[in-house]
Amino acid sequence: MNHKAENENFAFCHTYPKYVIIIRWIILGVAFALGVYILLDLKEALGVLYVIYSVAALTLVLPLSRCVSCYYHGKACHTGWGKVAAYLFPKEDESKFVAHYSYAIFLHLLWLIPLLASFFQLLRKRDVLALIIFFSYLLILLMERITLKKLACARCHQREFCPAIPFRKAK
Ligand code: SF4
Repeated sequence: MNHKAENENFAFCHTYPKYVIIIRWIILGVAFALGVYILLDLKEALGVLYVIYSVAALTLVLPLSRCVSCYYHGKACHTGWGKVAAYLFPKEDESKFVAHYSYAIFLHLLWLIPLLASFFQLLRKRDVLALIIFFSYLLILLMERITLKKLACARCHQREFCPAIPFRKAK
């Protein structure tokens, strides 16, 4: 099945190919697992809180602030979450997609908290393992941004006006 469609200005995917969704899940899964490890290593309760916060962010913040007003609501977006969001919340006005972006800070915290925690651990421990963990986390975040831009934004229906495109314009 051809997933691509044309509008006046560019080609985009109606639904993303499975391999894109799988790659995105692998990278996001590794980032999440490393984030949990970092927080657990700092303090067990922080690790548990981080998991609870992540679940709330994925089931409330992301669907309500982004998915409900996204073209991919009910469709397989680059993570497939558009289909999950459609089970959770009904579709709203697509014109609110950009306005809702201000809530993105609550999603960015998912990555910022472990990054700051791993940096704190590096300063505190000053050992090779803490250094490896800090740079591993930085690397996986960079890979996440690059794959988002190259595999997802480049063929996304929302790319012409989406404020979330990493490193600005999708090529
Ligand atoms: S343009 Fe990129 S960041 Fe924006 S909705 Fe599409 S895939 Fe997500």
